[in-house]
Amino acid sequence: MKLSEAISLGAMATEHVTHAFIIINEDGSIVTCAIGSALYAVGQHLRWSAERNYISMRWRWVVSNRAQCPGCGGHFNAMAAIMHLNDSHRWSRERIAFFVSMIEPQEQVLLEDQREEQSVSEYVEVVT
Ligand SMILES: [Zn+2]
Repeated sequence: MKLSEAISLGAMATEHVTHAFIIINEDGSIVTCAIGSALYAVGQHLRWSAERNYISMRWRWVVSNRAQCPGCGGHFNAMAAIMHLNDSHRWSRERIAFFVSMIEPQEQVLLEDQREEQSVSEYVEVVT
């Protein structure tokens, strides 16, 4: 799954928040930033301490690629740009997902999808 798709998916299931990845409220409702919504979409929202590491392991380009903020022109790595758009410009996660879809590499996504399929088939082999 592309990061842009994960952000969009998580945004459909959770409310928006700034300056936090994920907050689970006492009533069970969940609020997420753009990064948090992606974590939620891939089922990693309960791994508190590993959140930032998980993002950079699954979508490595977010820490290696540079991005220019479309709001103010500032230069960041892609991860910081996403957080900056969420927290400083208060963009919706849907709008951030569209921005991410324009900067994310296609080749790496294919490799990640293959790895996902491989791990799923390994899981199926263990279960059956
Ligand atoms: Zn900016």
